[in-house]
Amino acid sequence: ESADLHVDVLVMGAGPGGYTAAFRAADLGKKVALIERHASLGGVCLNVGCIPSKALLHQAQVIHEAAEMSAHGVTFEPPTLDIDAIRGNKENIIQRLTGGLAGLAKQRNVTVVTGYANFASSHSVVVENEGSSQTISFDNAIIAAGSQPIKIPGFPYDDDRLMDSTGALALADVPEKMLVIGGGIIGLEMATVYHALGSKISVIELMDQLVAGCDKDLVKPLHKRLSKQLENIYLKAKVTAIESTDDGLKVSFEGEGVPDSEVYDRVLMSVGRRPNGSLISADKAGVNVDERGFISVDKQMRTNVPHIFAIGDVVGNPMLAHKAVHEAKVAAEVIAGEKAAFDPMTIPSVAYTDPEISWMGLTETKAKADGIKYEKSVFPWAASGRALSIGRDEGMTKILWDPETKRILGAGIVGTNAGELIAEAVLALEMGADVDDMGLTIHPHPTLSETLCFAAEMQAGSITDLY
Ligand code: FAD
Repeated sequence: ESADLHVDVLVMGAGPGGYTAAFRAADLGKKVALIERHASLGGVCLNVGCIPSKALLHQAQVIHEAAEMSAHGVTFEPPTLDIDAIRGNKENIIQRLTGGLAGLAKQRNVTVVTGYANFASSHSVVVENEGSSQTISFDNAIIAAGSQPIKIPGFPYDDDRLMDSTGALALADVPEKMLVIGGGIIGLEMATVYHALGSKISVIELMDQLVAGCDKDLVKPLHKRLSKQLENIYLKAKVTAIESTDDGLKVSFEGEGVPDSEVYDRVLMSVGRRPNGSLISADKAGVNVDERGFISVDKQMRTNVPHIFAIGDVVGNPMLAHKAVHEAKVAAEVIAGEKAAFDPMTIPSVAYTDPEISWMGLTETKAKADGIKYEKSVFPWAASGRALSIGRDEGMTKILWDPETKRILGAGIVGTNAGELIAEAVLALEMGADVDDMGLTIHPHPTLSETLCFAAEMQAGSITDLY
């Protein structure tokens, strides 16, 4: 059978997993094709995920901080918001990054093919784009098809007032009254943005806490601050129906402390994401896909078909860009004959809320569930000079360590910049550091990074250098 193009490595999907794999394979001397259905490279992360959400969260942070400065003796006028300019700024950031990727692909002679790919056999795909189609054959393929928002069946998705994260990031307008279904990271990030822009927000969550899976003590300062900002936070409650009406979306509830129903101008559905594994005719290549759409892989990122690899959201949780990127390098290196494996000690998680929450390694929730022995050292930011200086003393830094060996097992931080601060703890875990190593490491003063050192010193009972 004749193909329109033959490559050493075909990469399906140009998100953080796909473009990283394509670039790495090209750098290692392979002839690479990168297939992406959208004209813009970068996948969910750059176009409708990590980056646009962080661009909007920055505005939200400045708005909140400015409002709170009057307690520090500086009072600003209430902000004037130009939604078109805010949206435009976000679009510019996306364009700079995705344009940069197109340039990087070109530099490396990676052939970018726009269109939707389906496997036709174990060595070929058919790419379709606006009625035209081409066959590309490959020696190796890397599936990086990503994920998409979960839709609960039975809701009126043809009504654009019912949004997913992509709709919310599009920032069509600032609704007066909005409901966020799902109190996870994405839902709370978007709630933070829309609250800052002036919406009255309610959040509803099925579980008994926000940011399910994260230790409760880390979530507490965030919950406390959000409960002052948001109209309602409903826990252990769910939405049973959504009805389009002329006045808005009429939402019916069930659970603790919820009204029977309420009308909202917009509703954001952020209840999780599902992998795209079942949408690529993987069976034609003989690649196994489970009933949820995940493709399982070994530590070399190989599927059950030895010359076909898979990476990123499509291979499992956590669905995070930094996981996809590291898996991508492994897949490309293994294909190029290098010894590589995906074997991290941990993949850190961050909620870019205000305050931020970050955690890595063992959590107390998991330790308790699995009966793992641990000691913990907690440093409250109320004793940090830097946290007090910036008016944000609600934070907390926590280290979990092994009672016998003192090895660091995990860490969690809630507070301003927690997402930046956690990287040090990840390195400590990867390097096999013990809690004394962290306490003996001289941290610059006065910084929030010191709180890791202080927490470590707390366990030695020798903390003398507070503030
Ligand atoms: P994706 O980014 O999903 O890319 C897959 C690409 O493949 C897409 O471009 C898709 O169009 C293309 N594709 C799929 N099937 C085909 C096909 N058959 N043919 C051609 N093309 C195809 N993660 C973080 O780490 N930090 C964050 O702060 C963060 N924030 C987020 C905020 C939001 C609102 C969302 C929705 C997600 C966020 N994420 C974040 C998650 C992150 O975006 C994903 O983990 C990451 O994008 C996964 O990368 P990927 O390469 O696996 O797939």
